[in-house]
Parts: sequence; structure tokens; C-alpha cells
Amino acid sequence: MWRSSSLSELLTAAGRGVTALLFPPRCFVCSVPLAEPVPVCLECFREIETFEDKGCVICGRPVTEEVDICRECAVEPKPFTWARAIGPHRGILRTLVLGLKYEGERALARLLACFLLRFVPPEADLITFVPQDPGRQRPRHAAELLARELSRKSGLRAAQLLVKTRSTPPQISLSYEERKENLKGAFVARRGGRGERVVLVDDVYTTGTTAAECAAALLSAGFGEVMVLTASHTIHDED
Ligand SMILES: [Zn+2]
Ligand SMILES: [Zn+2]
Repeated sequence: MWRSSSLSELLTAAGRGVTALLFPPRCFVCSVPLAEPVPVCLECFREIETFEDKGCVICGRPVTEEVDICRECAVEPKPFTWARAIGPHRGILRTLVLGLKYEGERALARLLACFLLRFVPPEADLITFVPQDPGRQRPRHAAELLARELSRKSGLRAAQLLVKTRSTPPQISLSYEERKENLKGAFVARRGGRGERVVLVDDVYTTGTTAAECAAALLSAGFGEVMVLTASHTIHDED
């Protein structure tokens, strides 16, 4: 969890430069009026649920004490080195992620990027993002907003390395096997890599199928390593 001394610093950093927020500013989650132009009030901020450091070393989801790797990652190796998220896709974090996704709120990207910054590895060369579906283009794309904020905060260059070549049905409606089939070959790299280590950003990690397909496309184009950062991680019942 975050030390309270760092809370206001983090909120201020997240809200810096925000001019598009309603005046007077209100908390994005509970609508309470705010004295400062920050995206959420301190109460809601403190309620954001974050993962403990102990988790699956590959996908980051919580695991029991005795194992380092969750059952899913043990059964099926991932093309990415690891994936990390701020916390589970529920409660206030879910509200913030949906706000970023459907309203393209930049202030939320700034706030979420503050949390994700600690996961950006010093050895990374580039930041990229899961591209938009060609059939569901939004004026502001959540994964790109988040990637660009992380780039600004970390100093790492952001670049669109992937395109999605065809529109696919939303993953949410599909089984795990259908998800894999649905996305097969849907992502291609826009250029060849030369062994660069890439941070791949998306809004939500669900089964990891999207991240895995994107990572595989980057690796086969010549990029050296893919590490995945998402704002939230959907925890399934069977865990
Ligand atoms: Zn609030
Ligand atoms: Zn795992």
C-alpha cells in the first residue's frame, strides 16, 4: 500500500496540467468537490486495491504461498517475460479503468501511470501498446493514453509497434480456447526489431491472450523481449 506521505504527492503529480476537468473539480469516482485539480479524492484514492508484491512471477496474479507460478502459467508458457498490474479489476480501480477506456480521460491515465511507473524496468528500450480494433476506433485509445503517460514519466520512448489487421469480436464473450482462436494472427508488427526490450501496455489483463498474441508478434518481428503492464487484472473465480 501507499504511504500516506506519498499520497498527496502522487495525486498532485497525477493532476498536474489538468485543465480539461470540470470546474470546480470533482472526484471521478464519488463526485465530491475537490479543492485541487486532481482526478480522485483522497478517500477514493486510499480505497484503490493494489496487489501485494507476492504473486505469480509470470502473470502477477495472487498465488498461494507455496508456489511461484500460477496454474495457468505453469500449463501454458507465455511469450512475454512477465505481466504486472496495479491491482484486481474491481471496485474503484475498475471504475477508473472503465473511465479511461470509455471516456478517454487523460487525468485518469496520469493517475494510473503513477502507480505503474515502479514496474517499468530500467533495462527496457521502448514502450508500446496493444493497438485498437479497426472496427471499434475511439477518439482516445486507453492503452495508448496510458503508454504515452508512462513514457512521459519514465523518459522511455513510446512508439506504436503493432497494428491489428482485422476486427475481432470482444474477448469478453468468448471461452479461453475461443479467445486464442479469435486473435490468432490478428496483430502484426509495423517494423522489424533489433532485439529491443519492449514494455507492452494495455488497460486490462484478463486471460493474457491479447498480451500473448501481441508479444508473439513483436518477438517474431525481431524484438528481444516483451514485458506487459496493465492497469488492472481480472481475477477469475477458479483462482
Ligand atoms: Zn471520491
Ligand atoms: Zn501466472
